[in-house]
Amino acid sequence: MYLQALALRNFRNYAHLNLKFSPQTNIFLGQNAQGKTNLLEAIYVLALVRSHRTNNNQELIKWGQDFGKITGQVQRQGSHLTLELLLRQAGKKASLNHLEQKKLSSYVGKLNVVLFSPENLDLVKGAPNIRRRFIDMELGQINRAYLVNSSRYRQVLKQRNNYLKQLQKKQVHDEVYLDVISDQLAGYGAAVIFARQHFLQQLQQFLQPLHSQITGGQEQIVLDYQTAVKEKELTVEKIYQNLLQQLQRQKQHDIFVGSTSVGPHRDDFHFLVNGNDLQKFGSQGQQRTAVLSLKLAELDFFQEAVGDYPILLLDDVLSELDQFRQTHLLQTIQDRIQTFITTTSLDNVDLSVISAPKIFTIKAGG
Ligand code: ATP
Ligand code: MG
Repeated sequence: MYLQALALRNFRNYAHLNLKFSPQTNIFLGQNAQGKTNLLEAIYVLALVRSHRTNNNQELIKWGQDFGKITGQVQRQGSHLTLELLLRQAGKKASLNHLEQKKLSSYVGKLNVVLFSPENLDLVKGAPNIRRRFIDMELGQINRAYLVNSSRYRQVLKQRNNYLKQLQKKQVHDEVYLDVISDQLAGYGAAVIFARQHFLQQLQQFLQPLHSQITGGQEQIVLDYQTAVKEKELTVEKIYQNLLQQLQRQKQHDIFVGSTSVGPHRDDFHFLVNGNDLQKFGSQGQQRTAVLSLKLAELDFFQEAVGDYPILLLDDVLSELDQFRQTHLLQTIQDRIQTFITTTSLDNVDLSVISAPKIFTIKAGG
């Protein structure tokens, strides 16, 4: 799949912009603060209806304006799609071939993207919510049921937490209702945990050979899902039973603190290299290698899941990678994957492995 064209209206520092892209490599070249990352962000938001930098719609809309719009022309397995996203402070409206989509789950996934930026090191180093968000964003693109189950899970979790607070303050006394909500929560939660575990296993199949190649066969990487659900359960039903038990066990504690202490909203995953947790024991170089291989693995993962490579957004990463890793990345991309690269200079970038890129010079929103 590839993005043929992008039109922006009042997005970040762009009032009006129309670009036509190469189906292979596109480079956004420009000095700092000109709007290079804003362009990648526009593509990311067009695909995923969520920014990687903010949850606040207003920040995406050009200052002083009350709406913004992103339109993309996508070629996917022989068919043409128009994706359009209207941004307002109050929310977003997504259209597919000019038809508004009431459910975002019927829009997300039409354009698959993988974003790689220096902040991705936080996937290893950062807090658990960053890794949960990673799974949500990637899995949500290919698994509609996951999107639906995780959004229901969040709704029921909110209800449960509200009710726990009422019990805590003794405004209500009926614990039977709590059990009813807990049962629902365990149902959606089990579906979420099951899908995540399966996703990490699949991703790991692509990750291991790539990682081993980059490390010269020295290191074995494992993605280890961490959940309160004890033994690694293999069926949704077993996870449900186990999660329900945990919720029951934690019931008095949860009432006391007024929030839910177990479930996928607290889960995490670790990168283990030769059995050691990279977050605690990995060197900077090992952490970078893990993230690079993870991003490369995502490309293969999407290829297998949807029969087509996603588009790849590289924000300032080429200059950050040493020659070896840079060449590795570019060799993987070759001319098979449409890629958008931002950089302030072409000096440190060796593009000899790919065919001539289309270069866009970016200057303060133009
Ligand atoms: P760098 O090379 O430093 O990463 P960049 O070219 O990627 O720079 P961006 O992050 O794309 O820069 O753009 C930053 C610019 O966009 C800043 O000058 C900022 O003031 C401007 N900007 C951000 N949000 C808005 C907005 N909502 N309205 C108008 N301008 C905005
Ligand atoms: Mg930038």
